[in-house]
Order: sequence, then structure tokens, then C-alpha cells
Amino acid sequence: KKMVYYFGGGKAEGSADMKLLLGGKGANLAEMTNLGLPVPPGITITTEVCKEYFELGQKFPEGMWEQVLEGMKKIEEEMGKKFGDKRNPLLVSVRSGAPVSMPGMMDTILNLGLNDETVKGLAESTGNERFAWDSYRRFIQMFGNVVMGIPHEKFEEILEAKKREVGAKADVDLTAEDLKDVVKRYKELVKKETGREFPQDPYEQLKMAIKAVFDSWNNPRAIKYREINKIPEDYGTAVNIVAMVFGNMGDTSGTGVAFTRNPSTGENVFYGEYLKNAQGEDVVAGIRTPQPLTKAQKTSPEQVSLEEEFPEVYQQLLKVRDILEKHYKDMQDIEFTIENGRLWMLQTRAGKRTARAAVKIAVDLVKEGLISKEEALLRIDPTLINQLLHPMLDEEERKRAIEEGRLIARGLPAAPGAVSGKVVFNADEAVELAEKGEKVILVRHETSPEDIHGMHAAEGILTARGGMTSHAAVVARGMGKTCIVGAESIYVDYDKEEFRVGDVVVKKGEVITLDGSTGEVFHGELKTIPAQISGEFEELMKWADEIRDLKVRVNADTPEDAKQGREFGAEGIGLCRTEHMFFKEERIPVVREMILAKTEEERKRALEKLLPMQKNDFIAIFEVMNGLPVNIRLLDPPLHEFLPKTEEEFQRTAQEMGLPVEEIKKRAEELEEVNPMLGLRGSRLGITFPEIYEMQVRAILEAACECKKNGIEVLPEIMLPLIADDRELKELKKLIDRVAAEVFLETGVEVPYQVGTMVEVPRAALIADQLARYAEYFSFGTNDLTQMTFGLSRDDAGKFIGKYIELEILKGDPFMHIDENGVGRLIETAIELGNRTRPGMKTGVCGEHGGDPRSINFFQKVGVQYVSPSPFRVPIARLAAAQAKI
Ligand code: ADP
Ligand code: MG
Ligand code: MG
Repeated sequence: KKMVYYFGGGKAEGSADMKLLLGGKGANLAEMTNLGLPVPPGITITTEVCKEYFELGQKFPEGMWEQVLEGMKKIEEEMGKKFGDKRNPLLVSVRSGAPVSMPGMMDTILNLGLNDETVKGLAESTGNERFAWDSYRRFIQMFGNVVMGIPHEKFEEILEAKKREVGAKADVDLTAEDLKDVVKRYKELVKKETGREFPQDPYEQLKMAIKAVFDSWNNPRAIKYREINKIPEDYGTAVNIVAMVFGNMGDTSGTGVAFTRNPSTGENVFYGEYLKNAQGEDVVAGIRTPQPLTKAQKTSPEQVSLEEEFPEVYQQLLKVRDILEKHYKDMQDIEFTIENGRLWMLQTRAGKRTARAAVKIAVDLVKEGLISKEEALLRIDPTLINQLLHPMLDEEERKRAIEEGRLIARGLPAAPGAVSGKVVFNADEAVELAEKGEKVILVRHETSPEDIHGMHAAEGILTARGGMTSHAAVVARGMGKTCIVGAESIYVDYDKEEFRVGDVVVKKGEVITLDGSTGEVFHGELKTIPAQISGEFEELMKWADEIRDLKVRVNADTPEDAKQGREFGAEGIGLCRTEHMFFKEERIPVVREMILAKTEEERKRALEKLLPMQKNDFIAIFEVMNGLPVNIRLLDPPLHEFLPKTEEEFQRTAQEMGLPVEEIKKRAEELEEVNPMLGLRGSRLGITFPEIYEMQVRAILEAACECKKNGIEVLPEIMLPLIADDRELKELKKLIDRVAAEVFLETGVEVPYQVGTMVEVPRAALIADQLARYAEYFSFGTNDLTQMTFGLSRDDAGKFIGKYIELEILKGDPFMHIDENGVGRLIETAIELGNRTRPGMKTGVCGEHGGDPRSINFFQKVGVQYVSPSPFRVPIARLAAAQAKI
């Protein structure tokens, strides 16, 4: 069985489409080799071996080692060096690489093959003693940490101590002699910590390293990362063994990372960072702040870009960039190393990017003729475009804050959005406070994989160190969190729980504001403004609109929401909940009067006061939605929600109604229900107290007539909630038609209106053919429908649903993604039955599911005609609807 794949000398056994077997890194190294790019030779041990390794109780499967040795021979031939050779030793890196990229999660070991003998050979063959010993001390440190489990800090302590002793400012100031001493101390540390000598046999080192990479698949941070990102546990990781090339050979060497386009804005410019005389992870680890790749990227004259420092290598990189983009038809994230002026490619993968960049890149690639519109649409994760709807800082407020001296620092704009929150300095605290409903900003020197849960909980992340490709930046972009990195003027003092900038001190719990698009950090809270759709985003949305069948409306109870929805492209209101108009502070007393009324007379008096209020609300909404349908649901919630509760409220209501408190309390008691959610609510209210619905219908249609007189096109739809029987519907439709006739007669104006029903009680779905006799349209209230179909209360489900998902009794939260099997079947049934009575009947979904891409895909399949989510999910729904069609 083939367990090891070779790449080198312009030819590889693997290719980019073998990611599942070779991991992302291995598959792309093979592909780059085949493309003729300068990749050092190497081998990839497959993910299948990793799985077998665990099945065998952490043992190598038979035959693997022999295949590794064969591969090593080929690498030796290609490089003209020998592994373990005393004069001209081959060194390798041992790198993990899962099918899905897991940045910073798995551990890589560089310079493997060095020992007390080969280090001398390396010094002699390269004529660079300092370099050889620097490589050796790095190797012991990485191997000691990753394979032998010695804490990283213990090595750092020794290195720092040595630097102090000899007065070296940076690592690069240490001489060969210094490094020899560091190596000696490192080896003593290994002996002390593990009770054994540092392994000297290169093949022994290699075996241990391969084992460590496999084992790292199950380290806690990798498990956590997979959990958050829903990566299957059984993928396993591949192991890549790659001939070392050296970026730490002196000032003609270096190492860097780059994005073929700007990962933050998506602009078609080369973008990256590098460090001279450095190796591997020095760039991403945030240890030294790296230099920019291009001249254009420079933000201060002290910086020296790679373009200036290594002009020839830069030209070569430009060519690589072009080849990779044309080949992969996507923005790439690359790692490279320069060894004595020679360029080597060490990795490429599709680059992580902000939503804004994703949209711009997709649209640009269509324009460049590399991909189709459909492909561009499919490339954007609809849930990510949430980020584009991120608020920005109010410019006036920003100027004022700057004048007031509240701009305290500037860092790199790693991920966009403007957020405010309380400062915390560690991940656990971020989680704790966020759970209490507080908004927090996680402030760290730099972040590491241990901080992931805190980053998840925080609104935004601020770090003092690191570049655009540092851990914090990459992870935050992936999570869609606002992030600023490398704010170097900040000093983070974990002990005192504060950070300082000059003489400004910001303590834990104080509020700061981050603008992730500019990198600005402000003291205090700043006002933000909602986002807008423009530029490439608008263009992409237009393509989505051209392609999709499913219409997208918006759930809006206020003119503001309606306006927001319309700006985001909604094609009407799918649900306007009239009770939300009742909940307003100044209206509650009147609503209470209405509810607590003993006689029809009393009730009508209260309703008369409510009528003009409701009417004005509808006028405002019709004006905003001019020309588009507006679906208004008559009063739905149980009346007790409006009842007075506190003593004070009882007193006030009594006074307003001119009745004794005792009387009010008695009436309130009479209205109490054991299970209000299944009690007197929805259309049952309309049947019991027809005056209420009469008033609402009158308000809607009087508003509509008035708007029509003023030249506004109104298309009201009047919807009855919680219908369970056709006679119920018949009765209420009669009421609506009667009031409509009255209003039209009084006003001398007629408007077209439709009467429809919610389908949210399972019985309604089952008798949909009967309902369709009276209902002109159906709107699936999937929240209630889910609740009633499962017989579980959404407000209480939190207590046990976690367990159900954990045990995989439920695939996911049915309130988030529609339950296709049960609730979905009811929807399908209702559509089919409804169409029997009323062919081509209008159907829509107005629950939360209307903004969920997965559910939208299902709705498209069963022939729902529109979805209606909350305003901010409208663009998501438009895109998801297009994807559902493609
Ligand atoms: P990660 O997945 O964390 O990026 P990598 O395996 O890509 O880990 O390696 C970490 C760093 O070491 C990267 O900067 C990479 O470019 C560098 N590196 C890996 N292999 C080699 C090699 N053979 N020669 C030089 N540098 C290498
Ligand atoms: Mg790593
Ligand atoms: Mg890498």
C-alpha cells in the first residue's frame, strides 16, 4: 500500500485534488512542484497512515518506515546531501497538514537532523558557523517543546539570560560562541526535564517527530479548533517531511508570508511581510515585527520593503503570484524563504480573508475572466457577509474624539468593524463577562491558540505585537471579529491588569473602542453608524438577484426596520407584527384599558383611542414600502403580556380607568391562564373579542386609502395568526371583508387587499386545502410551527437541547435550521394541498429560518415563493437564495 508520496525535481506523485489523502499542505506542495515552482523536495505521509496509527494504539503501520526511508533517499539525491552526514548534512522540516487548514494548531519542527556532529558539518559546508549553531539551538528548542513536552518558556529564559549576559539586544546579536553555550544549556535543560539526553540519532529524531505530528492531531487546542470550526474528527493529519532551506543564513536570506491580494480589503495588490535573517515562524509568531513586502505597503520611512531589499527575488515572487492565481483562480496565501538570494516556496493555500475582501476578490475574478458569476456567488459564505453589514464609526464622533485626545493608539487594521467594550486581559475573563451579557475587548500582548475561546467571546481583539498575518489577525478574520494587531505603543501589563500608552492608563473594565478598518484605538465609547451596501457588494448582490427565484422580503414592525430592509434589497414586508406597536410606553395604558374592559362599550372606547395611533404607524410603513406588498399580522400574543404586574402599575391603571385597585386586580386575575402560549391568543382573540381585530383592520385600510389618495401605491395583506380550522378562518375573513367594505364606502377609495393565514399550527398544514378556500396566501411561521410540531417550548429548550445535539438525537438546533424531516414535511404538505384548491397560491416563510442559508436551500426545493428574515439578514437571504438556485 502506498503510504508515502514524493515531490521534488519538478515532479510530484500527488496533486492539489488529493487534499483528503495528503492534507492541504502536502497536496499543494505537490501541485506547486508540478507547476515548476521552486519547492524544496520532500515526502508526504498520508492521512490514512495517521488514522491507522491511532487504530494501532499509536504505532506506525507496517511498511511505513521503509517507505519513508526510500523517500528520504530521493530527497538526498535531489539535494546532493545526506541525512546525518557529518560533512554535508541534509536537514528536514517535519510539518503537519490536515485536509482543512488549521492555522497554528499543529506543530512543525525545523532543522531536524542536527546533532553535535552534523552541526559542525553544517558550519563547515556553509562556511557560516553562527548560522549552524543558531539552527541547532532552534531545533533543540522546537523538538524539546513539541516532541519532548518541555515548556517553551524554559528555553526562552535561557536565551534571554544569555542575551542579558552578553548585552545582546536581539537574537541576531548573539555570536556563534554565544549560541554554542545556549545549545549546551538547552541540552542540560532537556536532561534535567526528561531525564534523558537529547536524541543524537537523526533517524531516531525523525521517528519521534513523525509520531509527535500524529499525536498533535489530538492535542487540546486542535480538538477545540475542530469543534469550533466543525472539522470532522476522523480526517487525521498528513506529515510532510521537507528538505530545509535556510532563511537564517545572514543578511542575504530571509523568510516571509504573502497574500496575492490584500486579505483585508481584497484590493488586487501584492501584500505581505518578511523578516531578514530569520527562520520559519519568526514572522507569524509576532516575536519581531516584520517588514512590509512592497514599497506601497510602507507606513514609515524606517521600514525596508522586500521590494527594495531583494529586488530580484521580488520580481520572481511577482511571477509566482501570477502563476498561482491563474492556476488556482483564487487569492493565495503563500510562505516563502530566501536562502542566499534564492527563492524557495514552502506553502500555498487559499488565503483567509475578510468578508469585504472575499466579495471584492470574487467580483474582480469574474471581471478578470477567471471565474463565472455563479462561481463567484458560490464562493461567498452568506453568513460571513454579516461582517459587511458591520457598523462603522460615525465620522463626526470620530473627529470629536480625536480632538478630545481620546485616540490613544494606532495598530494594524487586521479585521474590520467598529466595536466598543470593556477591556479584559485574559481569555477566561472574556468568556465570563460575555456570558453575563457584557461586551468585551480582549487586549493581549499577542494571542496564541490558548486564547481562542476568549477571542470567540469578545467583540474585538487588540494586540500590542504582531503583523497582519499574526495568530490574532488570522483567527479574528476567520471568526469575523474586529481586530487590531501590532499596536506597538501599547504596553500590556498583565500583573496590574492594565495597559499603558504614554501616560494614559487603561484599567480592566474600562471601555475602549476599536476601528478595525483603520487600526485606531479610542478611549471610551464612540457612536457607530450602520453599514451600507455599495461597490462590489452591490454588484454581487445584483448577480444574486438575477439568478434567484426565491423572493426576499423583510420582517419589519417599524418604519425604521422597513427602511433598513428596503435598503438591503427587501421586496416587501413579509411580517409586520402589530403587537409591537402596542408595546410602546405611551400606548400601554390604553392597551391595558382595552384588555381590562368589562363591557364591549368600555373596550370600544379604548380601541377608539388606539385606532389613530395604529393608523399612523401603518401610514409610515406604507410610505416606506411604496409599491411593495406589506403583510400585516393581526394581534397575536396572549393578552396577559400587556397586563399590569407591579403594584405601581396596578395603581396607575386604576387611576387612569377611574376604578378601584381591587377591581383591576380581580379583572387581571380572571385573565390569567395556566398555559398562555396555548391559550387565548392569535385568531382566538379575534373570535372572542372581534372589536380588536375590527379596529386593526380599520386602521390598516384607512391608512391604505389615505396613502392611495396621496399617490402611494399600497398592497396590504392582512394575515390571521394561529389559525387551526377553516371555519375560524371563514368567520374572520367575513369580518375583514365587512370592515373593508365599510372603509371603502366611507373614504370613497378602494385598495386591493388580500387575506391570508399563518400556517403555524400543525393542524393548519394538514387541512391546508380547506384553508386555501378562504386564505389567498400562506405564511409559514416556522418558529411556532417548529415549537408545536416538536411540542417543545423555544424558551425552555435551552435546558436540554444541548444534550440532544451532543447525543446526535438532533442534528442541530431545529430553531436555527429547519427540521426537514418533520416540520419540513408539514410545509411541503401544506404547499401541495393549498395548490390543489388554489393553484399557484402565494407562500412565504416568516420565521427565523427565513434568514438561514441551509433552510433557504430547503425552502427553494419545496417551492416556497419568498422568505422574510430580519433586516440585517436580507442580504444573506438574497445570496443564499441565489446559491440554492445554482
Ligand atoms: P504552519 O502550518 O503552522 O504554517 P508550517 O509547516 O507551514 O506550519 O511551518 C512553519 C514555518 O516553518 C513556516 O514559516 C514555514 O515556511 C517554515 N518551514 C517549513 N518547512 C520549511 C523548510 N523545509 N525550510 C524552511 N522553512 C520551512
Ligand atoms: Mg505552526
Ligand atoms: Mg505554514
